[in-house]
Amino acid sequence: MTRALVLNATFEPLSIVPSRRALMLLLDEKAELIHSTERHFRAARVAFPEPSVVRLARYVRVPYQSRVALNRRAVFARDGHRCQYCGAAAENIDHVVPRSRGGTHTWDNVVAACRRCNTRKEDRLVHEVGLTLRRAPAQPRERVWFLVATGGLRPDWEPYLGSASLSASA
Ligand SMILES: [Zn+2]
Repeated sequence: MTRALVLNATFEPLSIVPSRRALMLLLDEKAELIHSTERHFRAARVAFPEPSVVRLARYVRVPYQSRVALNRRAVFARDGHRCQYCGAAAENIDHVVPRSRGGTHTWDNVVAACRRCNTRKEDRLVHEVGLTLRRAPAQPRERVWFLVATGGLRPDWEPYLGSASLSASA
């Protein structure tokens, strides 16, 4: 499935959506086409270029807290798909302070973990089971970093990702 980069009216990258969804934004006149791929969507007698980059017609204000949604995929991307206790391939999301002990479901309390560490820890605290965190979890500062880290970067997105894409690949 091809994905498209959605830019705010200010050209700031906002999100990545399926190209079909981006086409809907264009047809609803909620966005303008900036770049398309070589392919087309065909319907009846008309063909639409498959969008790669679209820009919203109206500015969307992004509340700081919702800038990077906290979900399994995003946490795995932040943590490089590695268990933050032992470095093995991550399979689970672990709450550093377990929810049963008052831990919150927030960026600074959630890490990627392998099944073994996750099971070993259960409802206990890190020091109680002799585990050590490789680094303190934190909310990703750069929304753009997140867009790049989740993969599938298209070359025609790069001008809009700016310096952040350079730092993300370093
Ligand atoms: Zn582990």
